[in-house]
Parts: sequence; C-alpha cells; structure tokens
Amino acid sequence: MLEIKNIHKHFKGNEVLKGIDLTIQKGEVVAILGPSGSGKTTFLRCLNLLEQPDQGTLRFTDGSLELDFSHKISKKQELQLRRRSSMVFQQYNLFPHRTALENVMEGPLIVQKKNAEQTKQQAMALLAKVGLQDKAQLFPSQLSGGQQQRVGIARALAVQPDLILLDEPTSALDPEWVGEVLQVLKLLAAEGWTMIIVTHEMQFARDVADRVVFMADGVVVETNYAKDFFERPQQERTKQFLMQTKAVVLEDYSI
Ligand code: ADP
Ligand code: MG
Repeated sequence: MLEIKNIHKHFKGNEVLKGIDLTIQKGEVVAILGPSGSGKTTFLRCLNLLEQPDQGTLRFTDGSLELDFSHKISKKQELQLRRRSSMVFQQYNLFPHRTALENVMEGPLIVQKKNAEQTKQQAMALLAKVGLQDKAQLFPSQLSGGQQQRVGIARALAVQPDLILLDEPTSALDPEWVGEVLQVLKLLAAEGWTMIIVTHEMQFARDVADRVVFMADGVVVETNYAKDFFERPQQERTKQFLMQTKAVVLEDYSI
C-alpha cells in the first residue's frame, strides 16, 4: 500500500534519521522497536509531515500520491497525506475544553467539513468500539489516562485514514490502564486497519504485529516477521536489545 524510501532527517547537524526504508501492505501492523533516542518518533512525525524530511520518498503504491521530500512539499500534497494518515500520540493530545464526543467529531466536522448529524452518529459508534459510549459527554480531565487514550484512538479512526501512526500509545499510562488500550489496538488489528506502532510492549508486538522493525541510532538494524524477529534475531544489536527488554515483557494485557 505504501512505500517509504531513504528517509533522512537532521536537526542542527545532528543526523537523526540516516535513510529509513519501510514498505507496508494494506491491513498490516508494523511495530517499530528500539532504544530511546533512536529516531522512532521523528520517523513517525516525518510520515505525517509534522516534520519535513530532508530527503526520501513516500509513495502510495496505487499511484494516488507520491512525494519526493528533496523538493518542497506543497500545502495541497501535505493535506492529501494528512487526510490519509492519522496519528495517535503518547500524551493523547485531546482538546481539554471539548467533550470526548466533540474530540472525536473534530476531524470529520471541521477538517473534512462533513455533515454534523452523520458525524455525530459515526463518532458515537467509534466511542462504542473503544468501550466509551457512556463517556461521550465527559471532558478529558474527567477520564482516566486509558480512557483518554481510547478517545485519542477513536479520534484517529474518525477521519477513516488508510494508515494509523501510533507513537508509544501506552507509555504515558499508569500500568493499570495499559491493558485496555492494547486490547483496543488488538481489535483494530483484527479488523484490518493498517498501523505503524512504536511500542515498548514486547509481548504485544509479538502477538499483534505482522512485522517488526528494529531501529537504533537512526537506521533500521533489522526487520522481520514478528515471530522470526523474536525467535531468531539476526543482529548482535537486536539480541542485546531483546535480552535487556525481556525483563519488562507484559504478562497479560487482557481486560
Ligand atoms: P525516539 O522516539 O526513538 O526516542 P526521537 O525521534 O524522539 O527518538 O529522537 C531522536 C533524536 O533526535 C534525539 O537525539 C532527539 O534529541 C533528537 N530530536 C528529536 N526531535 C528534535 C527536535 N525537534 N529538535 C532537535 N533535536 C531533536
Ligand atoms: Mg519517541
């Protein structure tokens, strides 16, 4: 569905992404793993043009959109890309003065200028999907971290994106709320949403991701099918990382 090639990004002489490639098929879940500071967030932000990459290309394989970052990206191309990919942030990024329902309605209503009544019905259905149909009228401050992040996920789905980008969606949560959020992501994976998810939840990556990309120091060190990645890591750097993180494998994320 999407082909990303040779993404480079630097901040003031610090080269953070040194040529990242990634191809993703429709319905695939790709987990990006890697130590802190390896460029995972920057990579996701580049894919949504929250950061402008220095070079590289992004192409929807049906030919509908093709961007070459070594040229200036027009506002029109930027909007075309944003319409097709939504981001779920570590810190939820909900509008504090809007209810859960209004947060979910925002994209379709304001950005996509959709019909209000229809948008409301769809937003209620999405809140139901993430288990929050009875919280629609509450404000973010009245919700737990796990509930806020589930609103964040419903909001990302509301624009019916081709691709959902999730940046450590559970790492700001108290441990008690992690399971319910992972459960929702597992449901989305089963429904066939295409997702790129940066995570430190190894067990989740192993169970739910189709493929794993392991990044360190701005490069992809290793990429493989999830099962093979965990059972037969090839690179020394990957083996080390897995050994270090085994200790924090989440035992059980069922609600
Ligand atoms: P990760 O998500 O893997 O922890 P990041 O993409 O957040 O890694 O960061 C990779 C590197 O890029 C870090 O060294 C970080 O300090 C740097 N970096 C990220 N964003 C910026 C920015 N806006 N300005 C300057 N440096 C940045
Ligand atoms: Mg990060």
